[in-house]
Amino acid sequence: MFTGEIMEIIHHGGRYGVTGSCHELVVTENASILVDCGLLQGNDARAGKGKEHPPFINFPLDRIQGLVLTHVHIDHCGRIPHLMGAGFQGPIWCTEASALLLPLVLEDAVKIGITRDEKLIDRFIEAMKKRLVPLPYGTWHKVGSWDGADVSLRLQQAGHILGSAYAELRVQGAGCEVSGKLNEKELHSNTTVVVFSGDLGAPYTPLLPDPAPPERADILVLESTYGDRLHEGREQRREKLRQVIVRALENRGALLVPAFSIGRTQELLYEIESLITEHRHDEAAANLPWDDLEIIVDSPLALRITDVYDRLRHLWDQEATEVASQGRHPLSFEQMTVIEGHAEHKGTVDYLRKTARPCVVIAAGGMCAGGRIVNYLKALMGDPRTDILFVGYQAHGTPGRDILEAAKTRMEPSKQTFIDLDGGSYPLRAAVHSISGYSAHADQRDLVNFVRGIPVAPQSIRLVHGEEEARKALAEALTERAGEIVR
Ligand SMILES: [Zn+2]
Repeated sequence: MFTGEIMEIIHHGGRYGVTGSCHELVVTENASILVDCGLLQGNDARAGKGKEHPPFINFPLDRIQGLVLTHVHIDHCGRIPHLMGAGFQGPIWCTEASALLLPLVLEDAVKIGITRDEKLIDRFIEAMKKRLVPLPYGTWHKVGSWDGADVSLRLQQAGHILGSAYAELRVQGAGCEVSGKLNEKELHSNTTVVVFSGDLGAPYTPLLPDPAPPERADILVLESTYGDRLHEGREQRREKLRQVIVRALENRGALLVPAFSIGRTQELLYEIESLITEHRHDEAAANLPWDDLEIIVDSPLALRITDVYDRLRHLWDQEATEVASQGRHPLSFEQMTVIEGHAEHKGTVDYLRKTARPCVVIAAGGMCAGGRIVNYLKALMGDPRTDILFVGYQAHGTPGRDILEAAKTRMEPSKQTFIDLDGGSYPLRAAVHSISGYSAHADQRDLVNFVRGIPVAPQSIRLVHGEEEARKALAEALTERAGEIVR
């Protein structure tokens, strides 16, 4: 019988690192709910405690009743194919936008990581779609009753990427809701609300509304990716982006932006469109007016995702809605060149290698561990006219992190530094820049404000999804904001 106490929360990934998010809320002996099922990447994937390849699903499924998906980034959803392969047949609760995005994201992930067999992929996607239960934001949904515990779920705007949510899971002693006989205090003692933050967005994120803190969180499982950092403000960031573009184009080379297909690509396009509109009559570099600046988007997945962003305008924030009402198209503007097929991709890489034509290339993937950006880097990173701009977090053990570190330690620009990429070693002569706020993650201040906004301080805050230093710094910033802080 449920007594108001949650049994435990088990972390199957994303506890100590920023990838592989997967948490199990154990409600009773026989029932638990999984929150996210993300893929481990970089060093997190290699840290199998002595095992060369830890199994993707290394936990029993028997008591798991369903999966709550906070958003469709691969580090939160990438193990869903493995979960289903291991026999999971429960519902997948997510927002309506996530339900549209998930099949696109997983089709791509399966193609890259598991199989190229189209029939198998189709069969998996169809089976997965049947499991999806799309829920509107801000509405309680009863997910089930087990051993005297009623569990309800509410998804709230997280402002991180389109469709992203934080999950409020309310667990009540049986009949609380129905009988209505309990007074406020009894109801409180008989109910536990566990909030899983997923990834929280930063306020003023382009396109998306800001997250609002939960009304109640007895236990808060909080991400801490940027728990030790403060981002630049939106305006400074936009100005920095303008400066990087101008600088990169001055030496007539390409600006390569490794970007995640979901979220950052759309934010960048939105900001670049606004820069082009604002500086229409100025030159970005000698004889290169902003109006003629070419933006190459080379990621088929990013384009399909951008299309969903463009369709779901009712989820945009006020600013973006106003831009659209002026007849502008912030996600598909005339300066954009879209690369679809692989031949076209190879042709573009070759063309840029020969001409070093000044342009901005936004290509997947964000940490340079795979995706079309790798071919651009191999071809252009040894050319000093090239610039590389990182706009997202680079996890330890990824080529993106190697490039950032190498650029920092490179004493003289003439000296050669080599980067391991795709099985080879390539010289790095390109200039390297990074802008931190485009990653659509809350920084320390935003995370603290999120917790501060909860009317009654949580009994317990568990910091997840952050590296050691980030969790430590955030725990210090949150002291006295909760009964206990587990980091
Ligand atoms: Zn995310």
